[in-house]
Amino acid sequence: MSWRREGRRIGLVPTMGYLHDGHLSLVRRARKAVGSDGRVVVSIYVNPTQFSPTEDLSAYPRDLKNDLKRCREYGADQVFVPRDEVMYAGRESSCYSTFVTEEQLGRSMEGKSRPVHFRGVTTVVAKLFNIVLPDIAVFGAKDWQQAAIVKRMVKDLNFPVRVIVNPTVREKDGLAMSSRNAYLSAEERPQANVLWKSIKLARETVRDSETAIPASRLKRKIEALMKSHPLGRLDYVEFFDPETLEISRQIKRGTHMALAVFFNKARLIDNGRL
Ligand code: AMP
Repeated sequence: MSWRREGRRIGLVPTMGYLHDGHLSLVRRARKAVGSDGRVVVSIYVNPTQFSPTEDLSAYPRDLKNDLKRCREYGADQVFVPRDEVMYAGRESSCYSTFVTEEQLGRSMEGKSRPVHFRGVTTVVAKLFNIVLPDIAVFGAKDWQQAAIVKRMVKDLNFPVRVIVNPTVREKDGLAMSSRNAYLSAEERPQANVLWKSIKLARETVRDSETAIPASRLKRKIEALMKSHPLGRLDYVEFFDPETLEISRQIKRGTHMALAVFFNKARLIDNGRL
């Protein structure tokens, strides 16, 4: 609070920890946005309400000691690591009953595959905004739909926060960095860049064509590519308007693409502009 009284700008980077260079890029972006007098807060919280009972909440990778070390290296001014008792009056508590839901952008893609997910995200982000009172918050383009939903929530509920979306940071072979990459076995890892290859394949196809391409044709191409990566199982691939998230049937340059692929217990997502 004293930071606010001192007139310092505050930047928030919400994460679930197990930090990697993608998270680091968000901290750097937050630092730039708040200026040299500003302060950057990184939150680390594996938020139970965004996992369904069948998902990987208990298995989600955690390494708080290393995360705190990385936050120091990244130059975060404060790390906020709330417990479930603070956020939800305890796990599975009957003393918690208020949620924030976005009702339009969250219906497709991740929202369709993971029905409770975005309600958990909007609720925890709203709570973090109320606790930290940031001027800006930085999210990754890696979770494109999530960023769009958070922006919508901020606009709809008049949160005085500027949302910044930072580009996806990738491994050398194109795999988007993710805490969940830790689940990949040595056999799965080389095949996991099929998400990035799919985006590039769709992008090249669209850019080589003079006319719009039916989504069904691009989907077939991607399904064929998946066959040469047999450890992966396609959950969905969608094409959509990058702002409204409205699903597109005819794909042209500038349309956005997102996909989710299972590798055994790892469920990976990626997206990109075509
Ligand atoms: P997570 O810890 O996975 O919940 O992610 C926390 C924030 O980091 C979210 O805003 C993500 O979109 C962002 N993020 C995760 N992976 C990447 C990446 N590879 N590049 C950029 N941002 C990322």
